Amino acid sequence: MILRCIECGREYSSEEVRYRCECGGLLEVLVDLGEVENIFDGKNITLWKYKSFIPVEKRVSLNEGGTPIYRLENLQTELGMKEVYVKNEGANPTGSFKDRGMTVGVSKALELGMDKVICASTGNTSASLAAYAAKSNIKAYVLVPSGKIALGKLAQAIVYGAKVVPVRGNFDDALKVVVEASSELGVYMLNSINPFRLEGQKTIAFEIFDQLGFVPDKVILPVGNAGNISAIWKGFKELYEAGFIDKLPQMIGIQAEGASPLARAWKERREFKPLEKPETVATAIRIGNPANWPKAWRAVEESRGVLESVSDEEILKAQKMLASKEGIFVEPASASSLAGLMKLRNEIEEDESVVLITTGHGLKDPNIILEGFELPEPIEPSLEAFKEVL
Ligand SMILES: *Cc1c(COP(=O)(O)O)cnc(C)c1O
Ligand SMILES: [Zn+2]
Repeated sequence: MILRCIECGREYSSEEVRYRCECGGLLEVLVDLGEVENIFDGKNITLWKYKSFIPVEKRVSLNEGGTPIYRLENLQTELGMKEVYVKNEGANPTGSFKDRGMTVGVSKALELGMDKVICASTGNTSASLAAYAAKSNIKAYVLVPSGKIALGKLAQAIVYGAKVVPVRGNFDDALKVVVEASSELGVYMLNSINPFRLEGQKTIAFEIFDQLGFVPDKVILPVGNAGNISAIWKGFKELYEAGFIDKLPQMIGIQAEGASPLARAWKERREFKPLEKPETVATAIRIGNPANWPKAWRAVEESRGVLESVSDEEILKAQKMLASKEGIFVEPASASSLAGLMKLRNEIEEDESVVLITTGHGLKDPNIILEGFELPEPIEPSLEAFKEVL
């Protein structure tokens, strides 16, 4: 298996531990598309169904993937659209799409003989890494921004037995420490600049095609560290290059306004510059210096897509709409895909098919719902009293 630099094209063996090219560029895994199987029959969908596309032999699995895809019958009508779907990644084993990356990434760690893994995380990466490390009997270290991680995610990392280290600073600060620690201390880094993570996450594209039986016109998803949009695009491109599909979707990446360095650069048609102090209720995408930005930028450019930002208010409104009109409860970051669709509605034809990726489960961050909400006074246990409140 070969890793190739997306900037200078230099190639490396995947048998060595390496996260970046000598030139500093991001690496990607080259998959031999001569060997892949055409198994897109809509049946028995799980991540490992697509093993011929996945560049590891070992397998640590908690049964990830095979997440449901829903047609938004109520919301699509309200939006004046004909075909809007949600691919709900909250249905993965630890409640986010990060499990797709970790089943492959931790498998790779074991192949490389590593017995310690590390990541910086806004929450879901640490929850997921901790679970797969537990399953593999190896040690996980997770560095999280102090005080800025959703309650449920923190509980997960703790109960799965990871060593949780809060960092004074934000995600970008924590990632800097992790990058240094991984090279100095010989621990395997599983942030999304690790290209094997993206090899798992690209299966979202395979599942969308497998479940729908066609390629949608547009795929909309939140962008934080920018790995997932790159991964899903890679998945669609592999299907195309293997000759299994004859069209590609447009990739639409949504950032939160207070953490939107990519969307801003895109809209202002200027060079990408990191943002110092990212701030948003959508903690999973509270990132000012997306490590995978060059891959994400290419994904959007090549697919003739767009990068957009939405406000916290729009995100929370979309979160409520998805839950109260479709029965799908997602965390705030995930709702930015619906918020993005609403914001871009006028630029999308009514009969275009759209898939929104909802990246994580709503129960991870219950506080955001309960803030500012007060339960009414309890009633006496009688029908009379109940009738009174109706
Ligand atoms: C990690 C995460 C994102 C951002 O994904 P990137 O690959 O970092 O762009 C979005 N939503 C949720 C719920 C996440 O956990
Ligand atoms: Zn290079």
